[in-house]
Amino acid sequence: MSRSIGVTTAEHIAAGVVEGNQVVGKLRLLQEDSETDALHGMPSAGIAQTIADQILAVAAGDKVDAIGIGLPGIIRDGLVEESPNLRQLKGANMRELVSAALNQAGWNAPVHVYNDADVVAAGLAATRGQLDRLIRVWTLGHGIGFGIYPWHEGIWEGGHMAVSLDPREKYCGCGGRGHLEGIMGHRAMRLRFLDLEPEEIFENAQRGDARCVEFVKLWHAALAAGTANSIHLAGPGKFYISGFNARHLDVNLLNQYVSEMVKMSPLQGYVFEIVPASTEIAVIGAAVNALRAHQ
Ligand SMILES: [Zn+2]
Repeated sequence: MSRSIGVTTAEHIAAGVVEGNQVVGKLRLLQEDSETDALHGMPSAGIAQTIADQILAVAAGDKVDAIGIGLPGIIRDGLVEESPNLRQLKGANMRELVSAALNQAGWNAPVHVYNDADVVAAGLAATRGQLDRLIRVWTLGHGIGFGIYPWHEGIWEGGHMAVSLDPREKYCGCGGRGHLEGIMGHRAMRLRFLDLEPEEIFENAQRGDARCVEFVKLWHAALAAGTANSIHLAGPGKFYISGFNARHLDVNLLNQYVSEMVKMSPLQGYVFEIVPASTEIAVIGAAVNALRAHQ
C-alpha cells in the first residue's frame, strides 16, 4: 500500500504518516506557543528545516512514497507567491527548501506544497469517500480560506472574491475593496465594530440589536455571494464550512440567500455541511494530494 506523509501548518505544525486515507500511528504536533511564535520570526529556511525535522521524526526511519505540505497563501509549483500570515515565506520555494533539508538526511521522496485550505478539502474528500467528486470548503477564521478538491492549477483565492460594490467595504486584510474576507473575516469584523468582539456581534444580533442584525445578514449574504459565484463558475456540489467562526453560521439563512442568487436549473443541487476544524483532516489531505500527484 502507498504510504505518504502529510504536514499542516494551519494552527500549529503537525505531521502524520498516511496509508489508505487514514493516519497510521500518532500525529506529531508541534503546538507549544513558544514554537508557534518562533515560527513567525523564523526565516523561510528555518521553517523548512523545522518541517523537515517533523517529517523525519514522524517517519521514524521508514521511507514514504510522497510528502504533502499545506501552507497558507498562494502556492504555485512549490513557490510561495504570497503569504499574508507568514510574510517571510513570500518568494520562497518551500518545496526546494524542504527537499534540500530532507536530502541532507538521505531522503529523496518527492515533496509537494499546497494551499492550506486545499488540503482541508482533500482531507474531507478522502475521509468521507468523496475522492471522485468536486469538493469545496470555506474556512471561516481570522481570514477566509477557500479550498478545492481535486487539486488543479490555479489561484483559487475565494476569500478575496468581490461580493460588494460598496466603496465603504474596505476591511479586507489584503487591502482590496468589497472582498468576502473584508466582511466575514475575524480580523475584519473587529475593524468594523471597534467597540464589539465578533462573538458579541452575533450575541447582540440574537437579542435584536438592529446594527448587529443587519451585519449578521450581510455576513451570511456575503458567503452566499461567494458560493453563488463559485457555483456559476464550477457548478453545484458539496460545500463544507469549517473554521472557528463556522459556529455562527445559520445554514437555513445561507441557503435562502444562495437560492435567491442561483436560479438556473442545472446549478441546483448544492449542499452545505458545517464540519469542525481538524488537524488530522488537513494532514490526511496533504498526504492524499501528494500521493495522487504520482498516480
Ligand atoms: Zn482581500
